[in-house]
Amino acid sequence: MSGFAHVAIDGPAGSGKTTVARALARRTGTLYLDTGAMYRAVALLVLRAGADAASEAAVVALARARPVRVELDQSSPLGFRISAGDQQLGDELYQNDVSRLASVIAAHPGVRELMVERQRAIARSGPIVMAGRDIGTVVLPDAPVKVFLTASLAERVARRRADLAERGTAVDTAALCAELEERDRLDASRAVAPLRPAPDAHTIDSSGLTVAEVVERIVALMEAGAAT
Ligand code: C5P
Repeated sequence: MSGFAHVAIDGPAGSGKTTVARALARRTGTLYLDTGAMYRAVALLVLRAGADAASEAAVVALARARPVRVELDQSSPLGFRISAGDQQLGDELYQNDVSRLASVIAAHPGVRELMVERQRAIARSGPIVMAGRDIGTVVLPDAPVKVFLTASLAERVARRRADLAERGTAVDTAALCAELEERDRLDASRAVAPLRPAPDAHTIDSSGLTVAEVVERIVALMEAGAAT
């Protein structure tokens, strides 16, 4: 594997991780995985089964019975195909009720163990840009390039709103703002793998930057790393 093998991109909800990670993967000819989709898939299972999201045992049992699988494929709409059990999943993963529940089930250590194991197995198969909350700290602590992507709350709300609008969902700005803040609070305060930059992560504030500008900054970090 080259020094470019793994790029970890972490950050709060709506900071642009997914868009940047996908564009960077395209730019560098590598694969890409949005690990948030895996937690969303478990949340969707919980919602559909009417299970108790607060019960770690119930959520882990569901996730074991209907394993989340991802298949990396740049040409598919999400950039990868994701399924739970025998069901292929798509846009429904990005509904608001799924977002909210994802942060709740993601706090269970047993759920994280299952997801991290799969994410590492995927990373072993080759170069990849992986986006999430704990990629630089837990999943790929040896990744040569780690980025912590942030943006102002106003900008994150505007981006998530545009994302949802594209998917045909209109949401109230104040409600979205409260939801992002609540998810960040849950993600940053959980006992296991809380949202925080790895000590060796480069923080990039993407407020006011285009996707292409953020991608170029990361490419420069990759090149600087390769030169040392
Ligand atoms: O990135 P996205 O907003 O789609 O992630 C949904 C939720 O999944 C996050 O709010 C977080 O609780 C959880 N998550 C996580 N660890 C990751 C990726 C996502 O805990 N690596």
